[in-house]
Amino acid sequence: MIAQVEPLTPARALRGPFDYRLPGEMAGVDVGSMLVIPFGQRRLLGVVVGMSETSDVPAERLVEPLKALESGVPAELVRLGLWVAEEYCSTPARGLSLVLPPGAGTGASRSIGPRRALFASLTAAGRAAASDPSSVPGPRLGGRQRAALGALVGGSLSVAGLTRATGAGHATVRALETRGLVVIERGELRSRPDLSGVGARAGSDSVLTDYQREALSSVVARMDGAADSPGDRRVLLHGVTGSGKTEVYLQAVAACLERGRSAIVLVPEIALTPQTAARFEQRFGDAVAVLHSKLGAAERRDEWLRLRRGEARVCVGPRSAVFAPVSNLGLIVIDEEHDASYKQEGDPRYDARTVAERRAAQAGAALLAGTATPRPESWARLVRVSMPERVDSRAMPRVEVVGTAGMTGPLHPRTIAALEGVRDRREKAIVLLNRRGWSNFLSCRSCGRVWECPQCDVTLVFHRAAGRVSCHHCGHSEGVPDSCPDCGSVSVARHGAGTERLEQDLVALADPLPVFRLDADAAAGRGAILDVLRRFDQAPSGVLVGTQMVAKGHDFPDVTLGVVIDADSTLRFPDFRAEERTFALVAQLAGRSGRGERGGRVIVQALDTDARALRHAAGHDAEGFLAGELSRRQLLRYPPYASLVRVVCSAREPGPEASAAAAIAARVDLPGVSVLGPAPLFRLKGRERAQLIVKAPVDERAVAVRAVRRAVEAVSADKAHRGASYSVDVDPQ
Ligand SMILES: [Zn+2]
Ligand SMILES: [Zn+2]
Repeated sequence: MIAQVEPLTPARALRGPFDYRLPGEMAGVDVGSMLVIPFGQRRLLGVVVGMSETSDVPAERLVEPLKALESGVPAELVRLGLWVAEEYCSTPARGLSLVLPPGAGTGASRSIGPRRALFASLTAAGRAAASDPSSVPGPRLGGRQRAALGALVGGSLSVAGLTRATGAGHATVRALETRGLVVIERGELRSRPDLSGVGARAGSDSVLTDYQREALSSVVARMDGAADSPGDRRVLLHGVTGSGKTEVYLQAVAACLERGRSAIVLVPEIALTPQTAARFEQRFGDAVAVLHSKLGAAERRDEWLRLRRGEARVCVGPRSAVFAPVSNLGLIVIDEEHDASYKQEGDPRYDARTVAERRAAQAGAALLAGTATPRPESWARLVRVSMPERVDSRAMPRVEVVGTAGMTGPLHPRTIAALEGVRDRREKAIVLLNRRGWSNFLSCRSCGRVWECPQCDVTLVFHRAAGRVSCHHCGHSEGVPDSCPDCGSVSVARHGAGTERLEQDLVALADPLPVFRLDADAAAGRGAILDVLRRFDQAPSGVLVGTQMVAKGHDFPDVTLGVVIDADSTLRFPDFRAEERTFALVAQLAGRSGRGERGGRVIVQALDTDARALRHAAGHDAEGFLAGELSRRQLLRYPPYASLVRVVCSAREPGPEASAAAAIAARVDLPGVSVLGPAPLFRLKGRERAQLIVKAPVDERAVAVRAVRRAVEAVSADKAHRGASYSVDVDPQ
């Protein structure tokens, strides 16, 4: 047999697959197997993407793989990885790297099989000795021996873990074995991630509301194949915040497991949605595996293997979990489907929501995308099920939009009064300002100089606690200037307010209530984010202030006030999704308030109080917003009424990026396809940039992607544009 192998190499120019002849001892090799192959002078890791009995390569030039690895990936995932590569203008190697076992692809020699270790467990005599050490015949048991026996009462432990936990050495454990109290066996070492999240409320609301029941039966019917076409298996669950979407997910997953099938649950970001992940683990126990990049290497590999072997049948994780190696897939849930984190930033720039649709269709599985603020794309294309009421029949909070024109500080008098009320009644409030740091930028009062990043055409943000000004795009940071390098003036003005400064204002205002800050500076890393959320959750009263992190799916039942500062700042970005984003952010934050008995209230501060996105968010009117947004998009031919491909050309010195972008624009010449640009973008990380947007009819999307790929390949091979680099983003966000 001939194996068609795609080598895992970052080289873009390499066009596989390549044929290898399989020797007799590799008879088990099939699509999805991983091989170590000779490739020129090198040894590479490769994935089998096809099998054949013949090859176009002459027999005398065919070589054999060096080794077949123990683990591989399901054939279904090989197809999915190659599809992602094609769909998102990437390479087969990069597409396949998404579906490989964790740790693979980083080197052919790396072990990716299960790890084995020695485990100790108690015998019957050992169990008796643990409860009554004096019952053991022979010499009296020492302190370490007794500790080791005690530690094993709960179940077997790895010998290494046992010695760590009790201080007993290997010799002590061996002595217990010799005395017949303990058996030592070789077993598989497993690491399980710790899912203990903030305030995961254990209560199971298994009595469903009518709306929940209807949503559930709609999904289950599609899982059972009631739909005729794959499109009909996709359900958009539009449920207001607090309508009990998670319970619908849980029961849909339970129904999926009852049918002997597996499920994937995608969450936006584990660190920000620990409650959701924890609730799945509480409900389904060991049937759940969690996959995400913050896990240790061993944990990730072990969780992956549990899924691959069918020991776990529910995978919970962020976007990359869409590639979980489950078999017999019955359901994919996408929680908070509006969240931008479903789109991967680096190559391949895939969108997990689109990949999920593809995978569900491939497997004949149902897709359930839930949110309080649906994307226009999903609203237009998916079957809608609506849950318009909160589970406890509590009213949605009242939202006031207040104008900020002429204000000198960051807080409106109405906001100040509302926060004073929260303080006096000892309640909780969440304040959102989507800008971190102390102030947005610094300028010289004498000559007007503005402090900018030397690498990017953006202003540097002042961080007071760190005593530095830094660039939020490239990470450049420098000391705070004490005088202007241009004119020598020592008078430097600070403009605007970020979360760091707002925190200080709130500390003064809310005193003695505690103030918690949640942003990338205050809470770097997963543990720190959880810690802030946990402390706010457990405090009897207080104020949580932060960036958009505070608007994500945390369920704090006792928040009575939500505030959005500068809510329309995001509307001023030149982006067709600006309205959608602003609506979602404000509506999501509004949903955090008023889930308890005391009800809730929301204040939205904005320059333009009449902005469409804000009006609809204030009225909790997603449908009205989406209707307007869809007609606007139809008129301007934006998604979902067109497909976009974005090409960014960059270069160290000005010139090549612009000429390359123009050359690509000239080559993408298809009927019905329009090209916007080239347009210059601001300099980023020391690179000049130019951008093209290719707009194609939805059913011409694949044709347009291929045309862009060919144009980029041709232009990058042309010496006239030497020095330019390219990035292609299909369905840019
Ligand atoms: Zn100056
Ligand atoms: Zn920068």
